[in-house]
Amino acid sequence: MINFLKRKEELIKVLQVERIIKALLVFNLVYALIMLINDIPYLFLSYFMLSGLFLISLVFVKSNNFNACVAVVFFAAVVFSSSSIYYLGWGYGFEYYILPMITYCYIGIYSKRWIIYIIATLSLAYYLTMYYLFCVENYSLEVPLHLFKDNAKFVFKCINAFVVCSIFILVSNVLRKQIYIELENRQSLNKKLDKSANFDYLTKLMNRWCFLDNIEDLVITDKVGIALIDIDFFKKVNDTYGHSIGDEVLKNCANLMKKHFGEHTELICRWGGEEFLVLAYNVSEYDFENTCENFRAEYGNSIFSVEGLKSSVSIGFVYVESSFASNILDEYITKVDKCLYEAKNTGRNKIIKNII
Ligand code: GH3
Ligand code: MG
Ligand code: MG
Repeated sequence: MINFLKRKEELIKVLQVERIIKALLVFNLVYALIMLINDIPYLFLSYFMLSGLFLISLVFVKSNNFNACVAVVFFAAVVFSSSSIYYLGWGYGFEYYILPMITYCYIGIYSKRWIIYIIATLSLAYYLTMYYLFCVENYSLEVPLHLFKDNAKFVFKCINAFVVCSIFILVSNVLRKQIYIELENRQSLNKKLDKSANFDYLTKLMNRWCFLDNIEDLVITDKVGIALIDIDFFKKVNDTYGHSIGDEVLKNCANLMKKHFGEHTELICRWGGEEFLVLAYNVSEYDFENTCENFRAEYGNSIFSVEGLKSSVSIGFVYVESSFASNILDEYITKVDKCLYEAKNTGRNKIIKNII
């Protein structure tokens, strides 16, 4: 089972991703400034371009567009490292950028997994080519840097290693964000499935199975009212006015039930077809009967979207004064059913009760 208590932690990680990109952006800007002051226009432009690309990738991360974020950072790394290696030579740490970038592919959401392998293979081929051209054959310009004196290689190596490490942290955090988004999606899907499995789509009331599940968990012993409500001559409504009007009648019934019984209980369900079941506890017989009566009366006065349509309900109810046992709910329901049957057979639009 997924532990959603981790959610807060994941949110903190998401913020971290943005912070790292922001840090890289500022770092590159500061570095570009240093290069400008020291009159190294090539490196100034490189770092300036890189900070611009980090700004773009920040926008993409914020809008959850991981593929675009990957493409931008990948492009930046390749252009930046290859031009730097060509300009300064192998060994300044610019070569670090290529291989770790392969892990970066995993941030992208590709419909086909082999796209990642192609990027990885091309990156490896690119790295080996660069290694051959600039380390083995030494085709670089090897422009001397009048910066950091004899330690230039070492300082650049440290700085580049720092940037590459930051990219590693960035990758792992963005991957976390991806997992978090997936968890969220799954959670909302589960919620939807749960809703459609437990609730009736038309009336938004719980269905019979959800109702029975809820009863099982209850610890109630007395003062329980159970009512079974059935719309009278409902088939005729469908036959005369059509199913959509039938649906309107059902929805009206459900809404009025929520209005009247809602103050006593949440256990209101669509038992099936045009039958509804209510169970209230800690309610007096007088109050429950009154509620049934008020509901029946208001339902009978309902106005529908077609002229001339009148509808009524018959209600059977049992009241259990004491020693209620949820494990024998079937027996109570059989008794309620008998009351309803009697109401139907003795003229409808009425309430028949049974006190236990
Ligand atoms: P009685 O007074 O004896 O209860 O008669 P009735 O016509 O209400 O009862 P019957 O059981 O003969 O008919 C129930 C009808 O309810 C039949 C079925 O087509 C209709 N029905 C069940 N579910 C739905 C629904 O979701 N929408 C609509 N429009 N009709 C439904
Ligand atoms: Mg019926
Ligand atoms: Mg009916």
